[in-house]
Amino acid sequence: MKLLLVEDDQHLGKLIKQDLVKSGFAVDLAIEGESGEFMGSTENYDIIVLDLGLPKLSGIDILKIWRQNGLDTPVLVLTARDSWYDRVDGFEAGADDYLGKPFHIEELLARLNAILKRSKGRSPRRIEAFGLCLDEDNKTVTQNDIVHNLTPIEFMLLRLFLLNPNKLFTKSRLIESLYELDSDPDSNVLEVYISRLRQKIGKQKIITRRNQGYLFKDTV
Ligand code: CA
Repeated sequence: MKLLLVEDDQHLGKLIKQDLVKSGFAVDLAIEGESGEFMGSTENYDIIVLDLGLPKLSGIDILKIWRQNGLDTPVLVLTARDSWYDRVDGFEAGADDYLGKPFHIEELLARLNAILKRSKGRSPRRIEAFGLCLDEDNKTVTQNDIVHNLTPIEFMLLRLFLLNPNKLFTKSRLIESLYELDSDPDSNVLEVYISRLRQKIGKQKIITRRNQGYLFKDTV
């Protein structure tokens, strides 16, 4: 199970991470809002634990961005106080559960497992944008009722574009995200993958900005 933990209290973050790792989660830790939002938008997590009080970007704002962009990964929010308005804000923004600080790690684990159990029974995870539907479980993309299979790298790139429509990605940023799947990618490799994606979803969907990078756009 891949878990993203967004927590700015570094001592607490480390402790939670240690316990979650012991319980079998692979944990990425983000210590402020902007990087947390970015990691959640670009990596494929099974579940996210999100503190609400964060520097740079608040937990509520992060959650709103994720949900607006169609990310439906389950999110448990951590609130500093057990205050009802924080919980209401969290649920309205799309949280699946909350936990007030301080808490026992056993309670966090029990809640995470309950959320994961609930989310297993639901329909396949999908991300939709601009006439494309990405199926996260089957690693396919559907367009005009035609289903295309995707390689892991094509899937990862397309997922990044679909979750961030109209956002310009530099080549170096995209190559960086390929490192996890391809040990020694270079910019030519990136161009090959982009061109394969274009063959599947249409040339005009991924725009090249000369000397800048690529962006995913709805063009007719
Ligand atoms: Ca905090």
